[in-house]
Amino acid sequence: RPLVVMQSVSKVFSSGTTALSGMSLTVESGEFISLLGPSGCGKSTALRIIAGLGDITAGKIDWPSSRINSKGLPEGDIGFVFQEPTLMPWKTVFGNVYLPLKLRGISKAEARDRITEALATVNLQDFADAYPRELSGGMKMRVSIARALVTKPKLLLMDEPFAALDEITRQKLNDDVLRLWKTTGITVIFVTHSVFESAYLSNRIVVMKARPGRVHADFPLTTSLERD
Ligand code: ADP
Ligand code: ADP
Repeated sequence: RPLVVMQSVSKVFSSGTTALSGMSLTVESGEFISLLGPSGCGKSTALRIIAGLGDITAGKIDWPSSRINSKGLPEGDIGFVFQEPTLMPWKTVFGNVYLPLKLRGISKAEARDRITEALATVNLQDFADAYPRELSGGMKMRVSIARALVTKPKLLLMDEPFAALDEITRQKLNDDVLRLWKTTGITVIFVTHSVFESAYLSNRIVVMKARPGRVHADFPLTTSLERD
């Protein structure tokens, strides 16, 4: 079963801006999709809708593989990494990664092993007690990835996650995400402006176009990337 099915989804903001119009996209389990397109074409809006973070104006969206809550939204299966790491400065790395579990009512003692595992996934096992201000931009981003992974989501959504970082850090983080994808069963949707990045990372490139915001082209890259 697919993870997400968007059928002719439109999104008109209360400001009157039409961000999406008739966007259809089916996300199959195990894919690494790059969502590519110019600024303002609706990539972030599409990602937020896929995450269940925004209501839609018309069309239909389903999460056939997820548990659905009383509001009709998927529960717990989706991790989100934003361009800004948005860490709580007064909490340690451990405390920041604990947050999504805390929100689900899981005690710190119960959460400990999962947090340790998530930190190890991004090579931050030695930084659990550090505060965000002590970390580089790349490390903060890795904390943000650990926080997204700690609930063990099936789907990881990344909205231009490394755009603010230098080239070398960005390349390292891209390799980390690729390794994560290859070694776990996770499905990834990665929003980027970079054609290079999309070809390097993904096994499917979905190109969006503005006015109206919808899928313009959809390329499978079946030979370029396989799981180990
Ligand atoms: P909705 O129509 O879904 O209720 P709103 O129009 O109320 O959404 O906007 C939600 C939030 O996004 C508001 O805080 C608003 O200030 C902010 N916002 C408004 N315009 C833009 C924009 N062009 N890009 C990004 N954020 C915006
Ligand atoms: P992208 O991620 O491709 O740059 P966005 O999804 O952020 O595109 O934005 C698509 C369009 O919707 C843009 O015209 C943007 O200004 C507008 N927009 C995004 N968020 C909001 C909002 N909350 N309120 C009003 N307009 C918005």
